[in-house]
Amino acid sequence: MTNRSKQLFEEAVDLFPGGVNSPVRAFNSVDHDPIYMEEGKGSKIKDVDGKEYIDYVLSWGPLIVGHAHEQVLETLQEVMKKGTSFGANVEYENKLAKLLIDRVPSIEMIRMVNSGTEATMSALRLARGYTKRSKILKFEGNYHGHGDSLLIKAGSGVATLGLPDSPGVPESIAKNTITVPYNDQESVKYAFEQYGDDLAAVIVEPVSGNMGVVPPINDFLSFLRDMTNDYGSLLIFDEVMTGFRVGYNCAQGHFGVTPDLTCLGKVIGGGLPVGAYGGKREIMEMIAPAGDIYQAGTLSGNPLAMAAGYATLSQLTEASYEEMNRKADRLVEGIKKAAEENGVPLQINRAGSMLGFFFTNEEVINFETAKSSDLEWFAKYYKVMADEGIFLPPSQFEGMFLSTVHTDADIEKTIEAINKAFRQYK
Ligand code: PLP
Repeated sequence: MTNRSKQLFEEAVDLFPGGVNSPVRAFNSVDHDPIYMEEGKGSKIKDVDGKEYIDYVLSWGPLIVGHAHEQVLETLQEVMKKGTSFGANVEYENKLAKLLIDRVPSIEMIRMVNSGTEATMSALRLARGYTKRSKILKFEGNYHGHGDSLLIKAGSGVATLGLPDSPGVPESIAKNTITVPYNDQESVKYAFEQYGDDLAAVIVEPVSGNMGVVPPINDFLSFLRDMTNDYGSLLIFDEVMTGFRVGYNCAQGHFGVTPDLTCLGKVIGGGLPVGAYGGKREIMEMIAPAGDIYQAGTLSGNPLAMAAGYATLSQLTEASYEEMNRKADRLVEGIKKAAEENGVPLQINRAGSMLGFFFTNEEVINFETAKSSDLEWFAKYYKVMADEGIFLPPSQFEGMFLSTVHTDADIEKTIEAINKAFRQYK
């Protein structure tokens, strides 16, 4: 650990549970000391001891145009001078909403909230209120924030009624969440046969990014669309991570499957706290005050968050995605070659600028297969990469992200570091 990071963490363990405000920041799963960051510019981030890294975490996804982007900062400064929050409507809410409605195929009407967790919790309440049903179906290894209904441990193989994943989640809530393996059509059919008449919604990460990156296979998303239509359940895409990452029109545009409701977060706040959920007008109009399903927020639609989101999204074009894809392809190619040359077992999954690689020979299509990755080796590899100035998500089960400002030189430097790390395999 660097000196200043060490001092700060020693202080923090007395201040916050585990020394952090979000568990992954403790770096526990890679057995690495937590790093404190001080500043970022473009694709680079600098820690409190002055060490610079190429950043593939990007604040866990939001910073698709990189750190401290001029246009985002200028917009923020302009807005900030006029005040930070009014608790009343501001024009930037409309601007961001119009852009989102324009780009996201399923969204006809939207509600802004403050985090991805809030978006998924609120979307579930809406789905339950709209369908007047109580159960929901989610997938093993899909993370939808920490709301009680969604923090549910998965069973394996066949549909299981949920068991709470954390103490404090009442069983009475957990039992309404059914969990089945991702990409497993038979288990979904079984769950619908058992509980279909009481299923308010299926919620899914259209590309799973919380067990490493795992894309849908065999038209899984269209299959879910058909099943939910047949049983009168709503289909909710949690695009908190995939939104504006997998493509210009999000994962739903990329795969050509339109859900009833969509949850957004991360990129749409340009690095400020934001979430949103939206969908068919007829459903969204059930939310208060248009309808009677209650949901509110002191800072929802906050001018700074709306402005940062708008400044970020309005500069993304189809060409930005092509360029990110080109760099992602080059990175994948370099990693594959390094793995072949050094005998490292490797699976790579990519969706747009989300990349996940697993140290296993087994194809990774769900949480079970993701868990076959060699975690001990991942931790060793992580340390070499950090030493080489490459900042990766400190967990095998998180994806890495590219931005529009990662350069070809960044990619080549990263491939060099990977070669150095892989040479230490076994
Ligand atoms: N949904 C998905 C797919 C996520 O990846 C996350 C966070 O990583 C969330 C929901 C929760 O978002 P937040 O951390 O903003 O509450």
